[in-house]
Amino acid sequence: MSENYTDLHDALDTATTLDDIGAVIQDGAVRRGLTPAQLLDQVARSGRVNIGTPPVPAVRILTKAEYQQAYERMTGSASRSGNRLGRAAYEVLDETLAAIGVFAPAPHPNPDTCTALYLPTDHEEFDRHVFAQWQQCTDEPGHDGDEHDNGEVNWADGMPGAIPATAP
Ligand SMILES: [Zn+2]
Repeated sequence: MSENYTDLHDALDTATTLDDIGAVIQDGAVRRGLTPAQLLDQVARSGRVNIGTPPVPAVRILTKAEYQQAYERMTGSASRSGNRLGRAAYEVLDETLAAIGVFAPAPHPNPDTCTALYLPTDHEEFDRHVFAQWQQCTDEPGHDGDEHDNGEVNWADGMPGAIPATAP
């Protein structure tokens, strides 16, 4: 699987012009019996050259056990110092986790509407009362298309943070 590109890496590291790089690729392709395009593709797959846009980083969503553990540590520590967080506890926890790009696990969707869920994870795009709060589509269960909406937020399946509807 891992092809050796040492000759190319060494030559590319010392190349200073596009002509140099072109010559390196041309030579390397001829040696391997490939076209320059095929060789570039293989080199790109090996990680030496990045072609195309970088992937959108995946959203890190805690497991239920991780989330529960964080909740217990937080409320335990608060009560040792004489504070009861009460209903604010989950909001404090969600906001704190979101600040470092980590989010609460998805809730069980209400079966009365479409069960698609979405987690708004971009604090520049979403304001405080939806940011880091799971959203459920309020359209009819099993509706057509992959676009979802709850009057507050709309999204499409496949976006980071989106969970498609489960079959009714
Ligand atoms: Zn929907």
